[in-house]
This record gives sequence, C-alpha cells and structure tokens, in this order.
Amino acid sequence: QIPSEQIRLRGALEALPAYVAGKPAADGAGPRFKVSSNESPFPPPAAVREAVITAMDSANRYPDMGSAALREVLGALHQVDPTQIAVSTGSVAVSGDLLRAVVDPGDEVVFAWRSFEAYPILVGSHGGVSVPVPLTATFEHDLEAMAAAITDRTRLVLLCTPNNPTGPSLSTEQIREFLARVPGDVVVALDEAYREFHEPDTVADTAAIFRDHPNVVLLRTFSKMQGLAGLRIGYAVAHPRLARALGQVTVPFGAGSLAQAAALASCEPEVEEELERRAAWIRSERARVAAALREQGWQLPESQGNFLYFPMAERSGEFAAFAEQRGLVLRGYGDDGVRATIAEQEANDLLIEICRAWREQ
Ligand code: PMP
Repeated sequence: QIPSEQIRLRGALEALPAYVAGKPAADGAGPRFKVSSNESPFPPPAAVREAVITAMDSANRYPDMGSAALREVLGALHQVDPTQIAVSTGSVAVSGDLLRAVVDPGDEVVFAWRSFEAYPILVGSHGGVSVPVPLTATFEHDLEAMAAAITDRTRLVLLCTPNNPTGPSLSTEQIREFLARVPGDVVVALDEAYREFHEPDTVADTAAIFRDHPNVVLLRTFSKMQGLAGLRIGYAVAHPRLARALGQVTVPFGAGSLAQAAALASCEPEVEEELERRAAWIRSERARVAAALREQGWQLPESQGNFLYFPMAERSGEFAAFAEQRGLVLRGYGDDGVRATIAEQEANDLLIEICRAWREQ
C-alpha cells in the first residue's frame, strides 16, 4: 500500500484558517437554541416547500444549467439584464467564483478584519494573498486604511455590509467615496448577505452605486432572510463581462433543481411579503434585545444584521461557555468577541437573561 504521506497537497493549505461552523444545539435539560450561524428561525413558507416537493418529481433530471429562469426573475428584481446575474451554491460559492475569475496566484485581495471568516480561506485556497485591514475601534470598516492598502497587485476588495460578525453597515456616501479612490480595474464586491435585516430607511443604495461602477459586484444569498441556508443558493449581480466570467468558472450544475425551485418560489410577490414581514420582526427583536442589553450596561456595536456582537476580547471563550451551559449556543471568535443570532423570541429572551446573569456573577 502506498503511504498516505505521498499524497501531494498544495503548500498553501497549511496556512489556511479553518472555517468553524456553528455547533448544533445538543440535547440536554431545558431549552437549547443554536444561535451561532445567523440562520433564520423560521422554516421556509409553505409555497416554497410545495415548489421544492414538485421539483422533486424531476430530480432525475439535471437542473437548468444556467439557472435561466431564476436569472430572468432576479434580473427583473434588480432591474438588470439576466446576463448580469450569476447563480451558484450560496454566495460563499459565488465569492469563490469571483476569485477564480479575477485573482491570479499572488494577486492581493483586500478585506476588513474581522469580517466573514470564509474570506481568508477562499483567498488562500485560490492562491491569492489576503490583505486584512483591521476594523476601527467601533468595529466598522476602516475605508481610509482599506483604500491605502490597495496596490498594483490588488485585484479584488471585499466589503461586507452589514459586516458579519460585528454588525455595522456602510452608507451610500461611504461606499461612493471609497470607490472614487479605487482604480477601475480592481473589482469591489459588496457582500450584502444581511441586507434584508438593515433598517430600510438608511440602507445603502447599492443598486445606484452598481449602475455607476462597472467594477462593482453585489453578492446576495437566499440563506438568511429567505431561510434557505440548507439548500445552498446565492448569486451575484455584475457587469455582463464579469457575470459571464463567473458562469465560466463556476461548478457545472452547481445550483440544484430543488434550490432553484425554492429560490424562484421565494421571489413570488406573496412569499416575498411574508419574508419581508419576518425580516421586520427580526429587526424589531434586534432593537428590543439591544435596548435590553444596553440597559444592563453592555456596550455593543450598532448592528444592522440579524445578529449582535459582543466584543469581549480575552473573555470571549468564557462568555460563550457560560451561555452554552445555560442553553444558548453562540459563535465565539477567539479572543476577539462572540456573536449571537437574533432568533425566535424564546432564544432572544434567554440571551437577555444570560447576559444579565453574566453581569451579576
Ligand atoms: N456572506 C456573509 C457575510 C455571510 O455571513 C455568509 C453566511 N454566513 C455568506 C456570505 C454565505 O452565505 P451562503 O449561505 O449564501 O453561502
């Protein structure tokens, strides 16, 4: 037998950070809630479930390869041509496609840190060089420093707004000012996975920004507000040239027929209305929980996502363990902080209680 050490792996793999997925809530005494992955607490609406069941009848067939029907609908939704939409298995996969489309080995990718933990993994695994730029003291993107970090080797900038895991978002003006400093041959991706949880009156007009900047890509997902995290479907809105490139490098038949059917059903107006009501409820719960915690004396960054961030530094692990013992599975980020998803009311109430108990110990 050939010894397994002979299997040659790329050297870059050793330097890759691991993606720490949210743990499932283990069975035990009392309520247990997994609020560690920014998932929706609601199962998909009945019409979506029906569409998936119907799609099962032709699961012996390959899916619509170019996701033509879905791209048609999404194009109309974003008021762009369907050739400007690229679909894949979640927006994290679309981000990978983006790297394959624009980043050559050794090219640099600038992103804020902390931000979505998949970024350095994606960049490293595609042979790119990560240029993480520390967030400001208020856990926001330091756009000044990010613009200054752009070099001749920079091919891509990832802006996560609202920023996972810390919560703050970028305004229209901030993004426009930043773009004015970015060379036109650098692609700027706006990762808007949590856009639907943003207060609607202050959310950035990224559609207008996109129209003015051919190098801007919008990344969107059905995993969060639409509650389809388990089906894996997301997309990019991009310049036709870039969208075509994304289609060239993506996994053939990546987005499955059940996922496409669910996404299409989620775009139906009545379903959209229901999903929007749910997002509004999450926003109101976020405000309620944040107010209760601030009342307790917690200092939290302003969050526009379906989550709150606790910048607990070296006490992060201890706080996450404290919460878990009391029935709430949170997401810890080393010695930086801990993130809690806004979920069903019972989980949110438990979060408030756990935070009170922590301060009173
Ligand atoms: N972007 C951000 C900022 C995220 O937090 C996530 C999910 N955690 C994603 C993208 C990936 O979403 P998807 O399920 O569509 O791959």
